[in-house]
Amino acid sequence: MNISPFASPVYVMLKPVGSVCNLACDYCYYLEKKKLYPDVKNYILSDELLEKFIREYMECQTMQEVLFTWHGGETLMRPISFYKRALELQRKYAGGRRIDNCIQTNGTLLTDEWCRFFRENNFLVGISIDGPQEFHDEYRRNRQGQPSFYKVMKGIDLLKKHGVEYNAMAVVNDYNVDYPHEFYQFFKDMDCHYIQFAPIVERMGRHADGTVLASPEQGEEVQLAPFSVDAEKWGDFLCALFDEWVQTDVGIYFIQLFDSTLANWMGVMPGVCSLARTCGHAGVMEFNGDVYACDHFVFPAYKRGNIRTQTLTEMMYSREQLQFGVDKQEKLPGQCKACEFLFACNGECPKNRFLRTADGEPGLNYLCRGYKKFFAHVAPFMDFMKQELRAERPPANIMQHVRKENGKLIITE
Ligand code: SF4
Ligand code: SF4
Repeated sequence: MNISPFASPVYVMLKPVGSVCNLACDYCYYLEKKKLYPDVKNYILSDELLEKFIREYMECQTMQEVLFTWHGGETLMRPISFYKRALELQRKYAGGRRIDNCIQTNGTLLTDEWCRFFRENNFLVGISIDGPQEFHDEYRRNRQGQPSFYKVMKGIDLLKKHGVEYNAMAVVNDYNVDYPHEFYQFFKDMDCHYIQFAPIVERMGRHADGTVLASPEQGEEVQLAPFSVDAEKWGDFLCALFDEWVQTDVGIYFIQLFDSTLANWMGVMPGVCSLARTCGHAGVMEFNGDVYACDHFVFPAYKRGNIRTQTLTEMMYSREQLQFGVDKQEKLPGQCKACEFLFACNGECPKNRFLRTADGEPGLNYLCRGYKKFFAHVAPFMDFMKQELRAERPPANIMQHVRKENGKLIITE
């Protein structure tokens, strides 16, 4: 299955159970979103809203392939019958177009029945797993503090048994960032070829609605959450991972961030939004029809409206949303604008831009030091792969041209 990273021209992820989840991972930014809806007893997307969403979503697509993304909370807390109904509605409004479905899950509720359903209907399943047991269980536990690793692994075995396509989403945090090789080797041993490594950066700031994670506009008064990854270490993690990948794994294992970096080197749209030039093309709809600017901006100030009263096109092409998109470039501090790696980094996610530059300007990304180190480290290799792609040769050729000299990787002609 070949899935484009975003549906075009409108891409809105759907949260069919809001933020409800059977786990309570320490760093999860979804869980507390429940507090935005204090009077709600039932965080369930109704059939009426589901149909309205699917009809509108299909209507505003201009491509022949349409991507639906199901996100949580924990998506499998809705029964299979819910997704069967969604497929029925997708077929009803497809108008001859091809539909792809991606679903993100923590994997603990997977059964033979779920896997058969996913296989039969060609779902791509994204599994959240933070590497080997010790890493994973550090933060990914249920409300009683019980670890989840073995349940997730059982779920992955079921996916494999039924031949379901899946990829892994791994959070890099303060606990596991020093172990890139162990982390990567774990996925290779699992025979998982599509891996996303995502850095966790959160800040704690108390709000009137009871939520504690800081909103992007909160300034320097809020503290970094202890599980956040250190910026410098994030850079070291990526460099070490890259060195291993570029020697033996190009074209065999797909690490989203490396593919996206190469995309930016080539001047094409990267698959990961944090490295894209603009934001605003990936909205999210909550269980009650509220649409927000982005999955990482589910804060009252970034609510674009509700599908009961506005269309998806109106909300995703509203003045505020378009401005949100271009702000990513327009609000870059001078240090980024002058940075040699701006084309690859684009100032990363605006959510993480809470530092000041050397001359005191606000808006520098917390992960800047790490990314700068990474981009400088991979630049010659990216140049080489770009040259191969331009000559219509596989970038994997690079593996025949790298060797270690005095403990450092170099490219040979
Ligand atoms: S705000 Fe961050 S997560 Fe959202 S689209 Fe922009 S880069 Fe991506
Ligand atoms: S590496 Fe740092 S200075 Fe350069 S664009 Fe990224 S965040 Fe800005």
